[in-house]
Amino acid sequence: GMKCGIVGLPNVGKSTLFNAITEAGAESANYPFCTIDPNIGIVEVPDRRLDKLTEVIDPKKTVPTAIEFVDIAGLVKGASKGEGLGNKFLGNIREVDAIVHVVRCFDDENITHVEGSVDPLRDIEIIELELVLADLESATKKRDRTQKMLKTGEKIYKEQMAVLDKLVPVLEEGNPARSAGLSKDEEKLVRDLNLLTLKPVLYAANIGEDEITEEDNQLVKKVREKAAGEDAKVVTISARLEAEIAELDGEEKEMFLEELGIKESGLDKLIRAGYELLGLITYFTAGEKEVRAWTVKKGATAPEAAGVIHTDMQRGFIKAEVVSYEDLIEAGSFAKAREAGTLRLEGKDYIVEDGDVCYFKFNV
Ligand code: GDP
Repeated sequence: GMKCGIVGLPNVGKSTLFNAITEAGAESANYPFCTIDPNIGIVEVPDRRLDKLTEVIDPKKTVPTAIEFVDIAGLVKGASKGEGLGNKFLGNIREVDAIVHVVRCFDDENITHVEGSVDPLRDIEIIELELVLADLESATKKRDRTQKMLKTGEKIYKEQMAVLDKLVPVLEEGNPARSAGLSKDEEKLVRDLNLLTLKPVLYAANIGEDEITEEDNQLVKKVREKAAGEDAKVVTISARLEAEIAELDGEEKEMFLEELGIKESGLDKLIRAGYELLGLITYFTAGEKEVRAWTVKKGATAPEAAGVIHTDMQRGFIKAEVVSYEDLIEAGSFAKAREAGTLRLEGKDYIVEDGDVCYFKFNV
């Protein structure tokens, strides 16, 4: 599954948002592969197609796909030097697929700001610098090790060295690794470093609860400008309001959103933006026992998609029976889709599409 790490300065609304996430949280029994940890919240990805499939197939159980959020609290100035949670924090964040950076864009004189004033761009820089410094440390260490290995004459070290020589000066200037303009191949050569500033970023601009239906405030506008320059995404959210929304379910929630004049909760927006940011798609499995949604990277092959369910299914992959969501809904069941001729047999090179309903055949 996808894992997002929540970072931000103290007092910007991280815990409030994280509490909303765990409150809205999924039943973890359905997601045995997710880590059980008080700092991890699992949320279900809302998907109307899954509701519709459930209606048509009427399975015993429906399981949405989920996203994990990791609360990486305690990132303060000096974290990379081991102050605050320091290295434990950095270890946690190295495992995530994307970073959700919460920035304070709400004005409230009752809530102190650790830096004395509300200024999201400065806040972003403080956090980013800590991440850059941590990356600089690992990149420099790696460069020293690689330097020594150069005398083996092996090509790989020469190639790695070239990338590190590009990367280290960028980090030394205080800039994130993603601004070094590395090619996909170059990124692969330093993948083992798990660089924090190479991870995609989603800014969660925490606005006041009375601002959600209004035009972006000046602070949010600044964050959007910054994000546009670095291919990052911005989602406005009111952490306080999310905490209220998270307590409601189904119909109650929809009524409340309607009352507020918004289509979806901030959390749902965040999930959708994360999906887009990471280039993720959803495919389904649909049997009488269980209808279920699964997350894969865009471009995943059928065996890779099967591997999300179980590694054995990837290893022993034979073929996949695939029908599009629309065709399955129209047919009413897998068997009827087969009769209607909309069910296809696909092999190991098939690229799974968003909305595919799959049945995998595999050797055990
Ligand atoms: P953290 O240190 O980043 O985890 O921040 P918290 O979630 O603990 O929030 C710090 C304070 O800001 C708390 O008193 C929250 O109630 C308050 N807060 C969080 N989000 C909002 C918001 O959207 N509006 C207002 N007015 N206060 C908020």
